[in-house]
This record gives sequence, C-alpha cells and structure tokens, in this order.
Amino acid sequence: MDRSSLVTQTQTILRTDPFNDNYRVVGKELGRGKFAVVKKCVELLTGKEYAAKFLRKRRKGEDCRNDILNEIAVLEMARFSPYVVDLHEVYETNSEIILVMEYAAGGEIFNQCVADQDEAFTEKDVIRLIRQILQGVLYLHRNNFVHLDLKPQNILLTSSNPLGDIRIVDFGLSRQVDNVKEVREILGTPEYVAPEVLSYEPISTATDMWSVGVLTYVMLTGVSPFLGDNKQETFLNISQVAIEYPQEEFEGISELAIDFIKSLLIKNPRKRARADQCLKHAWLTSCQEPESPKDKTLEPKESQVESPETTEKIVLLASY
Ligand code: ADP
Ligand code: MG
Repeated sequence: MDRSSLVTQTQTILRTDPFNDNYRVVGKELGRGKFAVVKKCVELLTGKEYAAKFLRKRRKGEDCRNDILNEIAVLEMARFSPYVVDLHEVYETNSEIILVMEYAAGGEIFNQCVADQDEAFTEKDVIRLIRQILQGVLYLHRNNFVHLDLKPQNILLTSSNPLGDIRIVDFGLSRQVDNVKEVREILGTPEYVAPEVLSYEPISTATDMWSVGVLTYVMLTGVSPFLGDNKQETFLNISQVAIEYPQEEFEGISELAIDFIKSLLIKNPRKRARADQCLKHAWLTSCQEPESPKDKTLEPKESQVESPETTEKIVLLASY
C-alpha cells in the first residue's frame, strides 16, 4: 500500500506497560481479520467492558505501524461523533498495537441483515439506523476523511435486542481525502466497492456513499445487489451498475426506499447524493410508518450475502 497517504500524527499515549496488568480478556473472540483479532475484555480498575483490537505491526514482512497510527488518528479525529466507536486507550508491544475501544454489545448489523424474517430489520429500523450511519459518515466527510470499507461487518450495534444504536468501526482503510489521489493501490471488499475504485479513478467522499447505497439495499432485503458467482462477475455487475429491485425482495418496502438507494448507486460519483443531501431525503425525514410492514409470514429466504469469513479483501494494483 502507498503509505504516503496515511495520517500518522496521533495524540493518544501509546502505553508500554503490560495490557494484561490492566485488563482481563473474557469470553471468546469478537472478531478476526487477516492481521487483527478483537477480544472482549474487562478493565480491572473499573470493571468496565471494552473491545481490544490486537493489530500486528509486521504483515507479510512489511512494517505496518503507520497504517495502525493512521487508524488511531481517524478514531481520534472522530471522537466527538456518537456514531463512531470510542477509542479508550492504546498499548504498544514489540509485535502489536492494541486499541482498547468501547464495546459494542449488539455485534455486527451483518447478523440481522442475513437473519430470518422474524429477526430481520423492519424498514422503520433501517430508516433509523441508516440515519445514524449517515450522521457518522457526514462527520467523517466534513473532516475530509473517507472510510472506504463501509459494509455490514464494520457497522456494529450497542445492543441487538432491543435494537440499539450504531457504531462505525474499522478505520483500517480510511484516508484523508486530500491525500487519496496518491493512492495507487486500493483495498476494499468486492461487493461494496464503488465503480471508480475498480477503474482507478479518484476516490472521494462519494466512494463511501456508494457503499451506503449497497448497505441500505442489504439491510432492507438481505440480498447483496451486485454479488456474482465470482469476483469477476461481481466487478462486472458493479461497473455496469447491473442492479434490480425485484418485487419479491422489495415486498412491503416503500418506493421512497428504492428512490433513496437509486440516488446513491449512480456510476458517476459527482452525481451521487452526498451524506447531507441523503439526510434530507423524504425516505429519512418522513416520520410515517412504512406503507406496509414487512411480511413476517414469508419463508426465510436463502441468504445471498457472503459470510464475514469469505468476504476476503481484494487488492487492486493500478498499472500506470
Ligand atoms: P478487521 O480490520 O480485521 O476487519 P475490525 O475492526 O473490523 O477488524 O474488527 C473485526 C470484527 O471484530 C468486527 O467485524 C466486529 O465483529 C468485531 N469488533 C470490532 N470492534 C468491536 C467493538 N468495538 N465491539 C464489539 N465488537 C467489535
Ligand atoms: Mg472489519
């Protein structure tokens, strides 16, 4: 990855005393990526629960400390947004950096996206959660940052039953917008990446807005709109904006919801709705109930969304 685009100035003290002197790890892992593992822990002094993300500094023989500092810098920048996960403190060891974050007890919205009808989000839930996601994204964008990896695995809930509030996590790919033109290699997750990422065109805040469109579609239907049988097919579907709104998937979902998604899944980034415009969209400002509630009697549909384990990150190398 091009590291010149990273923000590496941080304010948080990198503690070097042992993490285990201050925290006890509890329960099983909360999540795991290629280079990080997230565990629930309890702060010994306060008894409070946190989520600790253990990030390896060396990856594939390369020093990735600056990537981690960039992730910390974005969390620091967004600390006053209620919808971005709180960073409590940071530890550094020889091999790892540990981010101690607010614990989001409700887990990934992914789980409800792929759940059976009786546990799935209603349109009313989605309206409330998408408003929160947009407020978090707007905060980042106003500060000239882009997330670049918005997907259901990176949007967590403070509680799942009753349904709580959202927390955006995983700023591992985030960039300052002014810096982004220098990025020659882009990492993202196939189903959620915008067309300009695939064609190596400039990345902007609009790139995140595409992902918000895909997220909304998935939260309402449980179906990933561009997912093909393989990566090539998925990329082709994205670059052709080959999307459908089948009656059976959108049964009981308002026309306004579809209109909202259509304002985001537009190939030309300049024509895509921005976060502030989205928050003014009639779908999100209408307080009225959805036209008809989701039909809870429908058979649970087979999920077409890939499980977190299989949403492998892609690497696109620009060939110029
Ligand atoms: P990666 O960069 O490996 O994708 P993430 O920051 O996305 O790492 O964390 C991986 C997973 O760990 C998330 O998808 C989520 O399930 C879980 N997780 C991360 N942060 C928290 C948190 N603050 N509270 C609860 N679970 C978390
Ligand atoms: Mg993640």
